Amino acid sequence: MSRKEALVQLSSVLVNRREAIRAALKGDLSALRELTLATGDLADVALDSAHEAVTSQMAEVESRELSKIDDAIERIKDGSYGICEGCNKPIPLARLQALPYATLCIKCQISLEESGLDDWSELSGDAYDSV
Ligand SMILES: [Zn+2]
Repeated sequence: MSRKEALVQLSSVLVNRREAIRAALKGDLSALRELTLATGDLADVALDSAHEAVTSQMAEVESRELSKIDDAIERIKDGSYGICEGCNKPIPLARLQALPYATLCIKCQISLEESGLDDWSELSGDAYDSV
């Protein structure tokens, strides 16, 4: 299978996953999203909802994954999918197959984790706040 074919396959994995999460979260996701957008900081939301049920925390994790999947689908559309945001090199297929919405290669992911930041955009200075 060529890389291109594999990426097409991954895009359908992403779309299916997105539908599954949307279905699972139907009902409480909209409120969750509004909250996330309002504060712009998922960590704050997590603190605010610490007293809430475990299901709510699960929804939050799923919601976070959903936004990563949405981003990945956008990157597929604009052709930047599968390219590391850190070093601009192709992310190995094995990594994409394990984590279809990965935006960093393993090397950059490790340097990000070592930096103590959650998101590459904080390191590169890109504004991610609008998402
Ligand atoms: Zn990289």
